Amino acid sequence: MKTFYIETFGCQMNVHDSEKVIGTLMAEGYSQVATPESADLVLYNTCSIRDKAEQKVFSRLQQFKKDHGAGKVFGVLGCVAQQEGHRVFEKAPHVGLVCGSASYNSLPQMLVQLESGARRVTGLSLETEDTFETPFARRDNPHRAYLTIIEGCDKACAYCVVPMTRGPERSRTSDSVIREAHSLAEAGYTEIQLLGQNVNSYRDPSPAGWDFAALLGAMGKVPGIRRVRFTTSHPRDFGKEIIDAMDENPVLCNHVHLPVQSGSTRVLDRMQRLYTRDEYMRRIEWMKRSPRNIAITTDIIVGFPGETDEDFEATMNLLDECGYDSVFSFKYSQRPNTPALRYEDHVPEPVKSARLTALQEKQRTIQIKQNAAAVGTVQEALVEGFNKATGQWIGRTSQNKTLNFIRPREGGESLIGRYLDVQVTRSGPNSLVGESVN
Ligand code: SF4
Repeated sequence: MKTFYIETFGCQMNVHDSEKVIGTLMAEGYSQVATPESADLVLYNTCSIRDKAEQKVFSRLQQFKKDHGAGKVFGVLGCVAQQEGHRVFEKAPHVGLVCGSASYNSLPQMLVQLESGARRVTGLSLETEDTFETPFARRDNPHRAYLTIIEGCDKACAYCVVPMTRGPERSRTSDSVIREAHSLAEAGYTEIQLLGQNVNSYRDPSPAGWDFAALLGAMGKVPGIRRVRFTTSHPRDFGKEIIDAMDENPVLCNHVHLPVQSGSTRVLDRMQRLYTRDEYMRRIEWMKRSPRNIAITTDIIVGFPGETDEDFEATMNLLDECGYDSVFSFKYSQRPNTPALRYEDHVPEPVKSARLTALQEKQRTIQIKQNAAAVGTVQEALVEGFNKATGQWIGRTSQNKTLNFIRPREGGESLIGRYLDVQVTRSGPNSLVGESVN
């Protein structure tokens, strides 16, 4: 029996790619093992969004450089594979497979080449119109499933490697997406998270020609599916029809992740984000006006080249205006081959760090306030686990917030996978606490 080990770095797209890679390998007769030491094939599905993530992979490979790796085949998949290409072999000569995500459909053929003794196999072409679809995805979570609807990105944000690592946008047909949603429901999944670098750029390539809002409307009608989420959305392509679809369809969750990156139109322009602050705020207003109580989350980069104190101040006051429920914030870091490399007006590292700290502190106080507003309400939670240390069940609300709760008349049975109504009794900056009421 051939065995493999896989470790995944980075975003949900990578996590789901790995689920599909695992299924593909198992269909080829491989079995998954828990440690790299016991595997014949060791795979790292990599992320290059930040330098740190990239370095981690090479340090993992380094551990096997000497005799520990003898007899094994090492493979680098994903964004670092695509970005570094053949340079991976120079940096880590014991690697046998370098494959970007746009070539995963050819993995079975690449495995055959490796098995027949090929020393170095690559899958690095970005010229594809295909998406990676397989009936074999091995999903980890038995209740919540990822479902890719679009791959790649046609934007060119100045700081971002994705267009170079994942290739151009390719949408799946609406028919294949809906078919997969039905089979997920039949397999017992109740929550689906639609994935794409820009989900709302979705364009059905079949004659049906659906846009993203039409797809959302249809997803909301799949029997057995109680929750549908989607990530990530680009503000430029985020039309009012998406909010209208959410208003009409209770299955669509009360949450939108809409990365803003900066509150300054001048910085947004230099980032090549294709929208102004005002245009972004219009989308926030649509959400605030919705009767759905939509939680809004975002991504922010501080210290982009040329960001002045005034620009940063604009980002700080954007936090107040938007009242985000959560913010993923990062210091700008240079990435290979990106347009921002041409900028020379770098923000000094200590200034970046100070800005990040200030932003995170401010957001923490906003989150305390946002979450406190939920105290006293009853929220439906999908139960995801049990925390033995606290004796609390761990649930997730439609707004994608963690809601830890107790069940007053505990019956001893597992609640995992069930949807329960929970009265929120307390709140903190990052989670809610409550008691189940049914
Ligand atoms: S929209 Fe911009 S940030 Fe998002 S993946 Fe495309 S280039 Fe990167």
